[in-house]
Amino acid sequence: MKIIRSDNYNVCIGGKSLEHFNFSDYSTLAILVDENTKEQCLPLLLAQLPSLSNSLIIEIQSGEENKNISICSLIWEELSKHNFDRDSLLINLGGGVIGDMGGFAASTYKRGIDFIQIPTTLLAMADASVGGKLGVNFSGLKNQVGLFKNPKSILIYPEFLKTLAENQLNSGFAEIVKHALIADVDLWNQLKETSFADLDWKDIIAKSIQLKNKIILDDPFEKNARKLLNFGHTFGHAIESYYLENGTPILHGEAVFLGVILELELSNISRQEKSEIKNFILSNFALPHCPSKSEISKYLTNDKKNQSKKINFSLLSQIGNCSIDNLFSIDEL
Ligand code: NAD
Repeated sequence: MKIIRSDNYNVCIGGKSLEHFNFSDYSTLAILVDENTKEQCLPLLLAQLPSLSNSLIIEIQSGEENKNISICSLIWEELSKHNFDRDSLLINLGGGVIGDMGGFAASTYKRGIDFIQIPTTLLAMADASVGGKLGVNFSGLKNQVGLFKNPKSILIYPEFLKTLAENQLNSGFAEIVKHALIADVDLWNQLKETSFADLDWKDIIAKSIQLKNKIILDDPFEKNARKLLNFGHTFGHAIESYYLENGTPILHGEAVFLGVILELELSNISRQEKSEIKNFILSNFALPHCPSKSEISKYLTNDKKNQSKKINFSLLSQIGNCSIDNLFSIDEL
């Protein structure tokens, strides 16, 4: 097992990771699942940790459209109904939706109870579970309401990936590609040169987390370096919000891949690197249709990162190097 130390918690990756947390410190335990993680991941978790069998199971419906304040209220209601006190623990067993919303629900319930992340998608393992960003979508905007708060621990058990659908695996891969592009040319070359089937997920997840962890430790509240992680996400979030509001949500990683391609056009990077990246993405992944500028401009102008009415992009200067605070007016895009 590999342990990466983050701010004030450990990220444990590998076969024995689930055993690396002291659940007996808590008065009451709840496990937040959706219908898929209840069926596919909960039995595996309980087989490894039978002592969790008496936990309260809180089940919500899967999907980005359910990452909202009404579903969050259901989690608070369950915790209240079962008299969860401040010494309770919420265990988030699922992808980024469960992690972001469960973390938010726990951090606000009774002014905050502890939570841990047990991510079950590649995206949540390699990215979303780390860094303490929690929240829900609101008023048609992605992650509009939320906070920064770290979990007590992150337990990454790559075995969960065995039941994950291929498109979900691809979606998680987008964030790993992004980490490589902004900070690690060696990882980029490894991703580019290894076939998907031959990738060692434990190794790739650990590398991806190490890159993100270094950045968030430098700048936990996104005042500076953490903005690097937004490469591909300004257009990406606008595209994801557009599809979400139209009732046809796409996967986060699909939006990020589209965002990477669009933001490459704004980046001051060599023509050769630009086509290397575009070719890699377009030849390996089937992406949804990219909406037009007029279809996504309202989301861009509402972006949380905007400064002085300008849209704020993190852009590549070369593979492995990225710059922050590149401001464009909507007309310049
Ligand atoms: P998700 O949580 O919607 O999970 C994807 C699907 O896979 C769901 O249907 C889920 O039920 C199913 N699933 C999960 N684990 C499974 C397993 N092991 N086997 C079978 N099915 C399984 O999607 P996601 O891609 O994990 O997360 C996307 C969310 O993460 C978005 O809301 C995005 O905003 C957020 N995110 C957050 C951060 C952050 O820093 N907090 C970073 C990136 C993305």
